[in-house]
Amino acid sequence: MKEFSIVVPVYNEEAVLPELERRLLALLKHGDSFEVILVDDGSNDASRSIIQEICKRDVRVRFVFLSRNFGHQAAVSAGLCAARGQYVGVIDADLQDSPDALLEMYRKAKSGFDVVYGVRQNRKEGIFKKTAYFVFYRFLSFLTQKNKIPLDAGDFSVMSRRVVDVINNLPERNRFVRGLRSWVGFTQVGFPYEREKRFAGETKYSVRKLFKLAYDGIFSFSYIPLSFISAVGFVVSTVSFVGIVVVLYFKIFTNASIPGFASTATITLFLGGIQMLSLGVIGEYIKRMYEEVKNRPNFIIESESK
Ligand code: UDP
Ligand code: MG
Repeated sequence: MKEFSIVVPVYNEEAVLPELERRLLALLKHGDSFEVILVDDGSNDASRSIIQEICKRDVRVRFVFLSRNFGHQAAVSAGLCAARGQYVGVIDADLQDSPDALLEMYRKAKSGFDVVYGVRQNRKEGIFKKTAYFVFYRFLSFLTQKNKIPLDAGDFSVMSRRVVDVINNLPERNRFVRGLRSWVGFTQVGFPYEREKRFAGETKYSVRKLFKLAYDGIFSFSYIPLSFISAVGFVVSTVSFVGIVVVLYFKIFTNASIPGFASTATITLFLGGIQMLSLGVIGEYIKRMYEEVKNRPNFIIESESK
């Protein structure tokens, strides 16, 4: 059994891999039985051959190649399954999260915590992305009231063997790893750190992928959207009932005629909109149920080192 496994998801990161190797090897100096697991998430640049060379140079680095691009969360899940360490760390390939901080988190975990998760103090991103992240994490925290997912914490973390075993055995699809990690419980503590700029290359998270991640966070960990629909339905029916009474009063007891093609049309459209929105919310839950029932694996391993 290894002491510490470091899981790194990699998707088209040829520009950062040489620097990543240098920084990780510096980390490996601190422990004889540390290992690194590079999970390639179906890259179509030179990442795979670079990874294979790194693994040849150092036996403490292993690779897992997925059969296609399954997404960051699936790649992290694949790495967690492959890890053999007493403690397992997760870090992005682009060096936005510092390997030195990971080492400190590992030491902190060994001092008696099951989960040490990185909390981003400051992001060096554009104002739009920064605001979006800020709002999303607060919204998610509001939605997950019973089992709060910590604010501004990503997948950058160190977990104990028992936590990793529990997470690996959760059959859930559309994994939102940081949510599952917090859901598991045990002793968890945040570790504040500065999030750097990406070392090289472009972000591998397209807007579509970011939205999928946000949706997985919300719909896999909260039922509040469903209660919200019921609440909106209740308010709208109450208001319209009062409206009906008022209209009937005018019709029966006065001579006033109530004109209003425009008002009728807007109200109909408004209600149509609310109904479609509600169907969409319900649809998100049904989609998730359907995916659970199909029971397809979260990722497929094409090849891995011994
Ligand atoms: N990644 C992945 N599969 C994907 C997208 C990203 O394995 O489909 C990896 C990527 O190589 C990186 C990490 O996930 O190591 C985080 O991605 P990125 O840094 O591009 O996201 P950002 O930091 O911009 O949110
Ligand atoms: Mg990044």
